[in-house]
Amino acid sequence: MKIETQCLHEGYKPENGGPGVMPIVQSTTYRFDSTEHIADLFNMPTEYMYSRFANPTCDAVEKKLAALEGGVGAMLTSSGQAASLLSILNLCSAGDSFVAMNSLYGGTINLFSVTLKRFGIECIWIDGDSSEEEINAVFKKNTKAVFGETLTNPSLNVCDIEKLARIAHNHHVPFIIDNTFATPYLCRPFSWGADIVVHSTSKYLDGHALQTGGVIIDSGNFDWAAAYKQTGAFGDFIEPDESYHGIKYVETFGKAAFIIKARMQLMRDFGCYPAAHSAFLLNLGLETLPVRMKRYCENGLKVAEYFLKSDKIAAVNYPALPGDKYKKLADKYLPEGTSGVVCISIKGGREKAMKFTDALKLASNEVHVADIRTCVLHPASATHRQLTDAQLVVAGIDGGMVRFSCGLEHVDDIIADIEQALAAV
Ligand SMILES: *Cc1c(COP(=O)(O)O)cnc(C)c1O
Repeated sequence: MKIETQCLHEGYKPENGGPGVMPIVQSTTYRFDSTEHIADLFNMPTEYMYSRFANPTCDAVEKKLAALEGGVGAMLTSSGQAASLLSILNLCSAGDSFVAMNSLYGGTINLFSVTLKRFGIECIWIDGDSSEEEINAVFKKNTKAVFGETLTNPSLNVCDIEKLARIAHNHHVPFIIDNTFATPYLCRPFSWGADIVVHSTSKYLDGHALQTGGVIIDSGNFDWAAAYKQTGAFGDFIEPDESYHGIKYVETFGKAAFIIKARMQLMRDFGCYPAAHSAFLLNLGLETLPVRMKRYCENGLKVAEYFLKSDKIAAVNYPALPGDKYKKLADKYLPEGTSGVVCISIKGGREKAMKFTDALKLASNEVHVADIRTCVLHPASATHRQLTDAQLVVAGIDGGMVRFSCGLEHVDDIIADIEQALAAV
């Protein structure tokens, strides 16, 4: 089925006479007739037993998201941050390292460089645009994964997915990619060789700014047993798990080993699972994802073209624009468009950028992006506030940078708002 159809029909299948809309199962618990039955579930959780790690409403949305990305299984999390964290913890323990693109979402950079370091896990940063040779050189014996982002927030770099997947596989480790800005409507990273996809569902997938959430999706393609044979890594996928009566993940679950291990070990122990009601709201967003993404891309391109013509703008980053540094990669990986987010730099730096964002009337100043309503953020005074102007340059963010996230309003109204705000600068 095409993605428009999958968005409406995957996951929940109404029974004869059952509700046409996926029900919200707002229950922490599930009732069983015997002690024996519950004892069996503690050996092998094949049914719902507790909503800290599985719930029927969340399960239906997980099945839909797995279908949209073309994976074998998915696990929802209570935020995008939790999805990124668990995707790494399912592979790395204290003493391990992983490789990541240095243009990732700011929250991910902090998680990887500060918090995971306290867990004893090292992130080795690379420039995603470097040559294969340069990236190959940073791998260590203890490196267990490569992490990228399809379309980076806020710098809008396009990841060369095939290249990073090839490098990861040459080192017998999986390639994880954050597909938040692209969504499976614009790009399906598994078809380019990625092994694991993560999303913040708080952005386009929900689309209405109703819930914070995340998801991890497993392609089922990474061969854990082969990697173990080659390098001895990923023993916890092959050898018995003492916390589950000696279960062996690859032997028991085959292609779904990664995602089932993530649930049985990490979600069981950390419990960052969303409420059923949040999953229900996310599903409403998913039903209209294709029509929304199409419009976000149309509005984004028109707004980017408008900014390009203004003499008050020093730079426009939008990979679908002819002349953009990432146009070639965008044509390959994002042929339908590059979302509604446009990153601009206002001439005159910080002061003029703040004047511009304050003068906007329709677009709202928010710590959010990829929403149904147009919103803006000035990274230098918000998400990257702790950095000096010199540090901002290193991070690829200048004081004049504004992240402009086009919503689904009529593009004429969005542009009229920009026009009056630029006139005030
Ligand atoms: C927002 C975002 C995240 C973090 O997601 P939350 O749901 O806010 O925790 C991760 N990656 C990208 C690309 C994002 O835009």
